[in-house]
Amino acid sequence: MPDAGSRATGDGRPDLDRVAWDRAVGEIIRAGQRMDRHGWVPGTAGNLSHRLPGGEVALTRSGGHKGFLDPGSVIAVDPDGHVVRGAGRPSAEALLHLQIYAELPQANAVLHGHSVPATVLSMATETAALEFAGFELLKVFEGQQSHATTLTLPILDNDQDIARLCTRVGPLLPGMTMGYLIRGHGVYVWGPCMETALARLEGLEFLLACALEQRRLRA
Ligand SMILES: [Zn+2]
Repeated sequence: MPDAGSRATGDGRPDLDRVAWDRAVGEIIRAGQRMDRHGWVPGTAGNLSHRLPGGEVALTRSGGHKGFLDPGSVIAVDPDGHVVRGAGRPSAEALLHLQIYAELPQANAVLHGHSVPATVLSMATETAALEFAGFELLKVFEGQQSHATTLTLPILDNDQDIARLCTRVGPLLPGMTMGYLIRGHGVYVWGPCMETALARLEGLEFLLACALEQRRLRA
């Protein structure tokens, strides 16, 4: 028997939980505005999503500026990426969002941005990860009680074949504490709610900006 969050309607589309849908859309719009204020979603870059109670995912549709989202900018897709609500199509990178929701049950919001520090640092780093140690802000990440720790941010080479990129992200996902970086492209961060995902994204972007400044000082 279908649950209340995902009843089928006459046209075969699931009847999404109205309250949860409206809340998810509102949180995506506000998070897009916040990311835009920081300059993390230039042009039409970035995408944002929130898990819905029936297992569908509310997601920004392809194209459009993420600082100027309205309710029509958000669509719902099922776990296979088929659009079940709204007009337009998901971006190719929707697969990366759906992979996080499928693999990590505790993830309910996913944010992806293209900041200058994420882009520059990932291109200037030849290794497969960045390490952060000694920063107070490391405590923003789950399970970290002290700054006296080292956290690792994996870097994956960019790939326009998102399904192929997913196969390289997958084995690393369970061990990721900070999210991950795609070289020359941007970051993926998630959390149990949008507020936490945003806090982690801000924490990660702060650390990336610090790492970039430290390299400049050493140069
Ligand atoms: Zn992107």
